[in-house]
Amino acid sequence: MVEQDYYELLGVPRGADEAAIKAAYRRMAKECHPDRHNGCRDQEARFKAINEAYDVLKDPQKRAAYDHFGKAAFQNGAAHDPFGGGGFEGFSDIFSSIFGDFMDPRGARQNAARGADLRYDLELTLEEAFTGIEKTIAIDALGTCEPCHGRGCATAETCAQTCSTCGGMGKVRAHQGFFVVERGCPTCRGSGEVISDPCRNCQGEGRAIQKRKLAVQIPAGVDDGTRIRVAGEGEAGVRGAAAGDLYLFVHMKRHPIFAREGTTLIAECPVSFTTAALGGAIELPGVDGHKVEIKIPAGVQSGEQLRHRGAGMSVLNGRGRGDLVARILVETPTRMSARQKELLEEFRATETGDECPAAKSFFGRIREMFG
Ligand SMILES: [Zn+2]
Ligand SMILES: [Zn+2]
Repeated sequence: MVEQDYYELLGVPRGADEAAIKAAYRRMAKECHPDRHNGCRDQEARFKAINEAYDVLKDPQKRAAYDHFGKAAFQNGAAHDPFGGGGFEGFSDIFSSIFGDFMDPRGARQNAARGADLRYDLELTLEEAFTGIEKTIAIDALGTCEPCHGRGCATAETCAQTCSTCGGMGKVRAHQGFFVVERGCPTCRGSGEVISDPCRNCQGEGRAIQKRKLAVQIPAGVDDGTRIRVAGEGEAGVRGAAAGDLYLFVHMKRHPIFAREGTTLIAECPVSFTTAALGGAIELPGVDGHKVEIKIPAGVQSGEQLRHRGAGMSVLNGRGRGDLVARILVETPTRMSARQKELLEEFRATETGDECPAAKSFFGRIREMFG
């Protein structure tokens, strides 16, 4: 199923305000309410999707997270618990790092100035995820303005004059019914200061779009869905305020041999029917570069799983390794020489039925059914 954008679902532009979103939702919900369509499945699914979209967009915090991370913001990445207290954060932590400033009792001043968090999608091979790796990534984002060193002013004398709108508080108060609402000052954008002669390069923001290269450390054992926080490497803040954080979202490339379930590596291994009957061994190229020999016991069945302990993936932020599992697929020959056929015919002539006990019992039950 194609995932539809929440804004598209409700038919509103990305910048739509709360009232517009609410109105669009009401209209759509009325249109595709299941009661009106005699339980038509498509309409029901659409109704659900619309509700899901509205649930997120009506809530400013969820909406900001969605704008930032897309639906990934609401998926459970916290199931992996990779770095303990280290570089990793589950969703709730991402939430608090984005929105923490809103809740900060020090107020709006900091909030308006902090740089936004950034997302970077990183694709890794199984081998890279196994060993861990340093990657150099290129980012195009707001960085500290070089000519003014992030201060936003053309000369030192024009820097940091107290904003007259808010008196340097960085926020203004407005009455809304019974409530007094505080919001960021529109003149100084929450910084509490104005600049009479702004820097030409950044127009007083103290930050400008820059290309930069960044070396990031990827620990061993990361998997699809692992998020790594690189503190302070997001967008630069306004006029020297704190920078946002950078979040690396790990995606795994397909591997030609191994599928992965957590720390377990699984390989589908076709073996000839003679090897399955007589036993033998196969060699797999291990993820660590060493060969792994899998012993095949005589009489192995198709679908049987042979486990090789400690030959799987590394454990994220832990010790040891998972297992390697060889899933046996017994292959029936399709191209045989006349001599091979002759030998097999000879084998069949000597069969008593005891060679394959499962088949014997199966056909025995069939015979019983026919009486
Ligand atoms: Zn102000
Ligand atoms: Zn500047």
